[in-house]
Order: sequence, then C-alpha cells, then structure tokens
Amino acid sequence: MNRPVAPLSAGDALTDTSLGFPSTFSSKPAIESGYARHVPQRRKRDTQGEGRPRRRRRKRSASAASGSTGGKDLAAARKLARKRFGIQRLHPLQAQAMEAVIAGRDTLAVLPTGYGKSLIYQVPALLADRPTIVVSPLIALMVDQEASLRRRGAPVVRIDSTLRVAERRAALARLAEGGPLIVLTTPETLESEATREAFVRAQPWLLCVDEAHCISEWGHDFRPAYLRLGVERGELGGPQVLALTATATPRVRDDIAERLGLVKPAVIAAPPDRANLRLEVELVSAATKDERAGRLIRRLPRPGIVYCATTVAAEAFGIAMERGRIPSARYHGRRTKAEREEAQKRFMRPSKKLVMSATSAFGMGIDKPNIRFVLHYQSPGSLEQYVQEAGRAGRDGKPSRCILLFDPADLDIQRHLQQRGRASAAQIRRIASALAAWAGEDRPVLAADLALSANAPVTITRATCAQLEGVGVLTRDSKKRLHLVVTKRELTIRTRDLARRVATQQREDEERLLTLDEYARTPGCRSAFLRRYFGEEKPPDCGRCDRCKLRPPRAKRNRKRPRRGEGRPSPEKSDKPRRKRRRRRKPKPPAS
Ligand SMILES: [Zn+2]
Repeated sequence: MNRPVAPLSAGDALTDTSLGFPSTFSSKPAIESGYARHVPQRRKRDTQGEGRPRRRRRKRSASAASGSTGGKDLAAARKLARKRFGIQRLHPLQAQAMEAVIAGRDTLAVLPTGYGKSLIYQVPALLADRPTIVVSPLIALMVDQEASLRRRGAPVVRIDSTLRVAERRAALARLAEGGPLIVLTTPETLESEATREAFVRAQPWLLCVDEAHCISEWGHDFRPAYLRLGVERGELGGPQVLALTATATPRVRDDIAERLGLVKPAVIAAPPDRANLRLEVELVSAATKDERAGRLIRRLPRPGIVYCATTVAAEAFGIAMERGRIPSARYHGRRTKAEREEAQKRFMRPSKKLVMSATSAFGMGIDKPNIRFVLHYQSPGSLEQYVQEAGRAGRDGKPSRCILLFDPADLDIQRHLQQRGRASAAQIRRIASALAAWAGEDRPVLAADLALSANAPVTITRATCAQLEGVGVLTRDSKKRLHLVVTKRELTIRTRDLARRVATQQREDEERLLTLDEYARTPGCRSAFLRRYFGEEKPPDCGRCDRCKLRPPRAKRNRKRPRRGEGRPSPEKSDKPRRKRRRRRKPKPPAS
C-alpha cells in the first residue's frame, strides 16, 4: 500500500523509547538540552548513543512556525498547570511530551494510565491562540473530561452525536469564535458532513488523538472509524498531531505514525509497569481456580477489580462475592446502563472499599487512585490489554498487586470472542459483491441494507465498509449512504487485499494469545518480560514480581555458596528456606 510518510523502523522507535524512561531521563537534562530530537526515518538502531543524544538541528513544522502557541515555553506550561490545574510538579515524561508539542512537533506519547496524559494537550491548548481538537473513542469519557475542564474554568466544547440541536448550535458557534478552545469530539463526528465545515474553518493548530492505538490493525483494540483520521488531518489543513495511548508495541507505534502521517515525531514512552505494582501469575486449572480466587479475594486489601473475559463469568463472580458477603459491585455488558452507572458510582466513592467484578468494558477513564489489586479471573486477549487493566491498580503510588489466574484453557474463550467480531474471507467477498450489485443499479446503500443483501451481521458489514472506505473504495455521503467509487475490477483487487489483511490480523491475535501464555510461564522477571515486549532492549529485573521474589538478588546469589547437601533450590520452593535461615541467625546467645 502507498503510505504518505516513510515509516519509522522499529529500531528508531526503540531508541527514542528508551530515552523516555525515567531512569535515563533523570541523568540528563533532556528538555533543556534539546531532548525533542527527531526520530530520523530508517536510521539504523543507535544503541551507543542512548545516553547522549546527538544534537541535531531542530526544524520546526509549519504549524509551529505559524506561532500557534505564540512562542510560549515549558515554563509557561508549568505555571499554567499549577494555576489552572493545581498540578505542582509535572511528571518528567509529561513535561517532555508537552515541550515537544509546544515546540511544534508531531508527538506520540505512550504513557500508562496514571501519568496524566490529558494534561499534555490541555495545558498547551490553553496557551494556544487557535482551537485544539481532541478525538476520543468514547462519548462517556468525553462527558467526564468536559465536566472536569469546565470545573477548572477551561474553555471547552463537546461536539458529538448525542447533542441536541440547540446544544450543537451553541457549540458550533463557540467553535466559530476561535481563540483557545478545547473541542472534544469523536472520529465519526469529525468527518460528518454536518460539522466538517465548522472544524475546517476553525483552523485547529493541534489534532490530539486519544487512545491512538485504536488506529492500528496490529493493535489489540482496532476501531475502523480511526482509520480515516489521517485523511481528516489533511482536510483540517494538516495541523500538528499529538497521539496518546497507554500501550503500544513498537509495531503499533510505527503504524500510528504512518497512518496519522506524523512527521519525525517525538516519541515519549514510559515503562508499561510501575514501581509499586507487584506482578504475579498463578497457574490454575478449571478445578482449582474458584477456590484460589475465593481465597485471594478474602485476603487481599480492598478496593480491587476482578476482570473476567465474559459477561457470564463477571456476573457469576459478582454473585459469588455477594453470597460470600464481600462488598462488591458488577459491571458488564449485560447490565443496564443505569445499573452500570450505579455500580461505577458506588465503586468510585472514596469511602467504599468494594471489589468490582467486571469485563473489560469497565475501566476506561476510571481514575480511582487507591485500587489495591487487579485480579484477572480469566485471561485477557493480549498483553496490551493486560497491562492496561492491571495498570489501574495503585495509581496513588502505594504497593498494589496485579494477579493473573492463568488457565491455558481460557485462551480459547478469547479465541472465540475474537472470531465473533471479525469478518471472514467469505463474508468480505459477499459484502463486496453486494456492493457491486448496488453500484450496478447506480444506487448508494446504507450499511444496514448492505448487510441484508450480503447476508452478514451489521457490525461486521460496518467494519468492513469502514476498511474499504479507508483504502478509497467507498465514500459516504451526509446521509451515511455508501457510494462505490472504483471499478469492479479495482474492487475485486482491494477486497482480496482486505481479506488477506484480515487473515493477518487473525494470525496476530493468535500470536498475542501465545505471548500471554509465555508471560504466564516465564521463569524470568515479569516486569522485564513486559518491558521487552513493549520495545525496551535490556530492561532490569524488577525485584518485586513473584519471579524475582523467588530468587535472591543477583549480587547476593553470587556471593552465597550453596550449603552442603543443598542443590540449587527449585524456584517454587526457594523462598521458604531463605526466610528460615535469616531467622536462625537472629537470636544471639548472651556473651556471659
Ligand atoms: Zn521481577
């Protein structure tokens, strides 16, 4: 496929990623010394230079040159963060990302939950002289953000499909006024005929893409609506882009950069786990899992979250907790909206120490600092998802536990879930020939009607059409009717490509599941495993996870000689004898 910008190679992303880690950051006044260096395209990996970034002449992108933030700098941003948001100190990575944005660079920030990603656009947005557009996948999330920005007196409007006519009119009028303004919207609204004009006229200086991993088909949470954001960027006049995500492997980062057309982006990434999280995995079977989960739930400090893969399991677990008189709540797709909201509200109350039994539907935008544990009763679909969900624990920096109860059979549940949401090659072919039939009669078609004629589920038809639209096969008019804009021959070729891509996705999903299995069984440090997966080259052992705790630290291990008759202890048993030894040494006989 023809891509607008030469992609970053994995190595490039890696180099900049390791720069972003706090450990290297602290040793180097990165921001002042021009941290925001370019990620040169197709450069060979430069492991030598990690500690000392080579100085490169900094070119400013067009949007920066036009002075959208009016020559403001990081000091102004810090001051504003203090005054308006009550943030006394920016996290070093927050500051790095903010500085890159203010300097006019396309920026990709990969920061786990709890790093305050939103602030990275909120502060520069208020320093700018033109509107900032923020695209996010969830309207519920936007509603919360809007409320919190309003409380702080920040100029903000939300424009999405849920607005009533008068509200929409008011929001668009505010957008037309221009000046510093945060505009929260969805990818669908951004591209809709009704609002596009207004967005284009506003000449935004920054397009912020929240949950940017949704744009990547390699990612674990692909949303077809995100595919067109690169095109939208062009139509908005090519504003600078800030892409935010909690997790992205090097490959997904490359994909984000390509699809959004990022030009030499500053990549700022934090390690996927935090120093206060203890990662643990227990291998269980269907027969032992419930008992083990029950025992953990009673013992672990609360509040906590139990994640299940299916709504059925989440419901059953919640009921079991209720029977066991454990203060709990349930959140999953089978509960009504009102029930879910009530459960979330209850869980968020600071006075309550509940255990939430939930599916992955629960958590986006949940900002409860004192979650003491995240227990996965069933395996998630990928390490990306795992890191995101487990990372909701311990945002207050206090010790918290992330436990995965791993039964290899659970991966089959994930396989089933993944199959359900994806078009098969046959479905894609049927959708394409139905499209051709409608086009043959010179009639545009709604996705729902197309689904009927293709005999495919509507969701799958929609997703397939969005992908075909992304590669220029279709366009959509203001009434959301689809028009075929290529010849039938071209359609056949593109459809074949799409089917191939879907097959690749399937393989990728399978690989992700296998990686999860590897993570569960790794004999080495779990934190290091995650960090390697997310692109770090030689991550240190954490010293906190269950694997590290089973082994004495390396230095000591080398010094200590095994006692006579004692081989190297098996990892499963080694912590007990150690504790005994220490205890034995303690009591000293009186000197007399
Ligand atoms: Zn470890």
